[in-house]
Amino acid sequence: MSRVDASSPPVLLRLGFQATLAPVLAAHLASPRHAYLFVGPPGSGKEEWATAFAAALTCPNGGCGECGDCRSVVAGTHPDVNVFANRDGSMSVEDARRAIRYASLSPSGARYRVVVLEEFENIGRVAPVLLKAIEEPPPSTLYVLVASAAGNEMATIASRCVKVNFPPFDAREIESLLIARGADTGEAASAAELCGGSLAKAQELVAGGFLPRRLFLWRAAASERPRSGFELMRQAGALTGFVDEVVADRKREGEAALAQLRDRVAKGGASRGVVKEAEADLARELRWLRRSEFELGFAIMLAQLRPSLGAGDPTSAYLAYSRMEERVRIAMRRLAAGVSEVSVLGALLGDQP
Ligand SMILES: [Zn+2]
Repeated sequence: MSRVDASSPPVLLRLGFQATLAPVLAAHLASPRHAYLFVGPPGSGKEEWATAFAAALTCPNGGCGECGDCRSVVAGTHPDVNVFANRDGSMSVEDARRAIRYASLSPSGARYRVVVLEEFENIGRVAPVLLKAIEEPPPSTLYVLVASAAGNEMATIASRCVKVNFPPFDAREIESLLIARGADTGEAASAAELCGGSLAKAQELVAGGFLPRRLFLWRAAASERPRSGFELMRQAGALTGFVDEVVADRKREGEAALAQLRDRVAKGGASRGVVKEAEADLARELRWLRRSEFELGFAIMLAQLRPSLGAGDPTSAYLAYSRMEERVRIAMRRLAAGVSEVSVLGALLGDQP
């Protein structure tokens, strides 16, 4: 018998946000269904809730947040909770098979094996591979699918799951969460306004103490039209230099780890292939970090243009804003395709209306 009382959700389910979902999920802990679908926009907290739910299902005390089970689920090391993050855009058949293989195993110590599939909206062509597995998992396995949207290609799978909707946060809720987690009140207010309802983005914005300069540099980029090619290059250089600073700590850490690994190879303790793989992983992570930093900057630029809507000539303000929105979309695509940052920035800032 589970000791969980649905009317008082366990500690781990009290994440302090999306609080109305706590009793809904707690009610499922005693006899969970075979599959759940958590749907909500980016940053609505659904990944954190999937982790909390998995911990609550795994912990002998219903998610105390203190025991070894809870801690290892949160750290991502619990043998009975398998999380498949799908960051590269679409899930490979191989990953899907791996997930199914895990799902077929009995839990090693916990009551259940929990298989979490994140960014499930990107499953695409592997949907048929997964459908049967998700429909009929072994009785001790359950799936938690996490998706930003429940698109058509997953309609069949979605119909087999208990669906839990995560609404976007409102700006005031984000502001008070950030302050509760130690952010400066002014920075919390700016981040809440800029993050588009995403707690994850708001946290990125206030992290590392970079927000004041980030706001200054990108607001300047939005409002100052460079008058010469030289000025344009200076502006682009200032922005990429700032991004260098933001990622510098992570880069240093990663390079130190690589140096250690190369050392082990030299002493015969690791294979050359491991180094190659680690180098590629670090390069990919740094590219991703830089891209998300540019994304934050673009959001600041757009926010800077937004207040002019409704003031002055509404039609031209609207046109200017939507032109910039289109440019930002193009810039993000080009960055993702590996075009140099300076040339992307040049095109974005160069001929602003
Ligand atoms: Zn626990």
